[in-house]
Parts: sequence; C-alpha cells; structure tokens
Amino acid sequence: MTRLFRHLPAVDQCLNALAADQGRQTKALQGVPRPLIKDLVNAFLDLVREEIRAGAFADEAQLTLAALYPRLLAFARRGAKPRFRRVLNATGVVVHTNMGRSLLAPEAVAAVAEAAAHYSNLEFDLATGERGSRYSHVEALLCRLTGAEAALVVNNNAAAVLIVLDTLCKGREVIVSRGQLVEIGGSFRIPEVMAKSGAILREVGATNRTHLRDYELAISSDTAAIMKVHTSNFRQVGFVKEVPLFDLKTLAATFGLPVIEDLGSGSLMRFDAEGLPGEPTASEAIADGADVVSFSGDKVLGGPQAGIIVGRREIIERIKKNPLNRALRIDKMTLAALEATLRLYLDPDLAKGRVPTLAMMTRPLVSLRAQAARLAALLKKHLAGRLEVSVRPGVSRVGGGAFPEADLLTALVALAPLLKTGAGLDPSLSVDALRQALLASDPPLVARVENGALCLDPRTLDSSEHALVLDALRQALGDG
Ligand SMILES: *Cc1c(COP(=O)(O)O)cnc(C)c1O
Repeated sequence: MTRLFRHLPAVDQCLNALAADQGRQTKALQGVPRPLIKDLVNAFLDLVREEIRAGAFADEAQLTLAALYPRLLAFARRGAKPRFRRVLNATGVVVHTNMGRSLLAPEAVAAVAEAAAHYSNLEFDLATGERGSRYSHVEALLCRLTGAEAALVVNNNAAAVLIVLDTLCKGREVIVSRGQLVEIGGSFRIPEVMAKSGAILREVGATNRTHLRDYELAISSDTAAIMKVHTSNFRQVGFVKEVPLFDLKTLAATFGLPVIEDLGSGSLMRFDAEGLPGEPTASEAIADGADVVSFSGDKVLGGPQAGIIVGRREIIERIKKNPLNRALRIDKMTLAALEATLRLYLDPDLAKGRVPTLAMMTRPLVSLRAQAARLAALLKKHLAGRLEVSVRPGVSRVGGGAFPEADLLTALVALAPLLKTGAGLDPSLSVDALRQALLASDPPLVARVENGALCLDPRTLDSSEHALVLDALRQALGDG
C-alpha cells in the first residue's frame, strides 16, 4: 500500500497538466484563481488516498497522472464552479423563495448593469450639484402607483415592518388580531419582530374571529397604533371574521391613532380578470385609510428584494430620520432595478408583458400546453429509450405567500426513467434518484415528484431554457 501511495502524482504535476491542457473541457477552469484549483487538486488526491486505503487499486499503473487525469479534470471542473449559481426552476412555483423569488424584467437587468458598472447620481442632486437623497429616485413613482403622499424603501419587508414599529410604537402597545399573528417562512414572526422593535404586542379577538369592539376595548393611553397583517400564506375558512381596514381606520381616527398595514406580498394591480382574486393592492390599502403600508419588492411585484413603505408624509419623514434607516437602506443596484420595474407598472399591460413574475403568473393554459408539448417532443426525440415522456394536467403556485389557495392550471411534462435491467429496482426510487441527480447537473434542474413521475412545469421555464433542460437530463442519465 505504501508503494501505491508513492506512485501518486505530485500536486505540481497535476496543476501543470491542467494548465497545459488546451482541450474544450478545461475551458471551465480558465480564469479560476490558481489557489482554488490547487485546493481542488489536493482534495482530489486526498480522495484517491482514501480509495487506496480502501483497497480500490491493485496496480500502480492505475495511479499514473495519465490514468487519473480524466477524473481529476472532472473533479476540478465540478469544484471550480461558483457556489452561488443559476438553476432551472421546473417546480412551477413562480415566486420561489428558495430560488431567488422574482426574476427581473430586461429593463431592470439593464439598469442594474448600468448602476453597477458606472458612477451614478445615487445621492447627488444634478439640479443643484449638491448631496441628494437616494429615495428621491423612486418616491414619486411609488406615490403615483399607490396614491400615497410619501414613500421610502428599505432592505426587505421584514426590515420595513421593523422600522415602522420602531419609529411609531417603541415602548407602547400595538393592537393586532389573534388571527393575524403570522409566521412567514425563514422565521419571520409578527410577535417576534414586534418584540425586537420594542413595541408591545396587544393581541385581541379569537383565532378565528375578531370584532371591532375587541379593538375598541383594547385601546388605552398606552396604545400607539392598530396594526393589520395580511395572512399571506394561509387562509381561514368557516366561522371567521376579520375587521375591514376601513372600519379599523374609522375607530383609530376617533382616538387619533395610526393604522399600520403589513401587506406581505402586496401588489400594484389586481388579477381578478386572470382568475386570481383576493390579494389586496397597496392603493386599496391607502384608499381604505391605512396611514402606513409596507410590502415586498420581490414577491408578486416582481422587482428586486426590497421593503416598500408608503403612507402619510409626516410618518414617512419620521421613518426616514430613524437611525435604523441607515442600517436597513437599499443599495444602488436595488434602486436601479426597482425604478425600472416601477416604470413598467405605469402601463399595467406593459408590466404584465415585461415583468417575468407577472407574465408567469398570468400565462394562459393554452400557451402552457403548447410549451409542454414542445418540451415533451424535444425530450422524446433525444431521450427515447431512457425516459418515458408524457404530458399531464397539473397545478402551479404563485408562491411567496401570495394567493396561497389559488390553483394555477398548467400542463406538466411527466418523466419516468426506463429501467435497463429487471434487477429488482423500485421504479419510484429511480424517479427520486433522477430528481437527485438533476441537482448535480450543470445548470442544476429542480423539479418535483408527483404520482410516481418527475414533473417539469413549463410555467417557470423560459422556452429558451428547453435545450438546457435536455442537457441537464442527459447529464443526469449519464449520457453527456
Ligand atoms: C413575506 C412577508 C414578510 C417579509 O417580507 P420580506 O420581503 O421577505 O422580508 C412580512 N410580512 C408578511 C405578511 C409577508 O408575507
């Protein structure tokens, strides 16, 4: 065994071989910092040492650089890829929190590239040549789109809720219905955010029903605000009651209290015509009397990660002056993407065509069926004999805690691996193995298993990605 160890190539030999390789495969290593490749070579040699110890090699000829080289190259190529990468989302969940939520409109992508590569008037007033405010670039647009008097933007909606409560309610009570003490994925819980802000939660009502008089009885000299939280990711049905915002406002106004609304996803337009009723818009919240409203930039809005705060000028000005605002502020790339996205909303039809989240949410079933048929035909043509390919009806989701009950009808491309041998393999196991193998493809493809088949939903795949889907499947099946 010691003899075998001695035959392992040296790190430098491996590095030189990789550097000298002019082949197509080594292109992936070009521009990768040499220390990173050196780490990968060391890791590869460690792996081979393990294998020697496990008795995997009998002969020193198997340990020459030439013999190990193809594996070394594959190992280095895999390891040299950035950790944070593009994936193909075939899940049909449009606003997928684990896969980057919203994709930006082309106009927003261009604006980000411009802001990233060049100096800008981020905080520079070109009219006076003096210091300006970064919020000025989007405030007028947000006011126009929501009907609010003033606006500002922070890092995300969790930050928005935090700074609103910190500014208006620190050390005092905020009245919230028990039916609205929600938890969002990733450990955002209203009671906990409230505690962090220093505001004191005053729960009222029962889980399923809260009445106006519950709020009224809770108001005291300690009350700072009444808050309404959108129950984003669940619905209560049956014997339930919530107090409409308008009535809360009427009550609050008699006591001179502000009404705060956390809209969650929020939206700048209605989707009733597309069969998606229910999600409140920011302008409705403002029109119904909310004094300050917050919502996410990257959920249904389809922009960059951001927490948008709109409302009465006097309140927004106080929030802008809160020292927390500096800690929660957005960067120039977010600002660029947000302005470009909001401009599209000035023409709702334009927004539906250009903002990917909106386009995917509202994609008609006929078009999804056509996409599914195209993808299925492509896969059948190239992977016949490896996969059984069919198209079946299915359901996609909006995601991001918006429209939680809405079933978006779609057409799924269902894949079942064709087993080569009758070696007693469980077919459901192999579907799962395929799903797993696709996560290691380049780019990785994420899909769901449903009724014994791996299902690809064309709703969240661009038609230009079909070739990549084929390629990922080839890699997963060991053909490419
Ligand atoms: C999603 C959500 C949040 C958090 O928003 P982020 O932009 O993810 O920080 C807060 N409140 C509600 C009701 C939500 O749905």
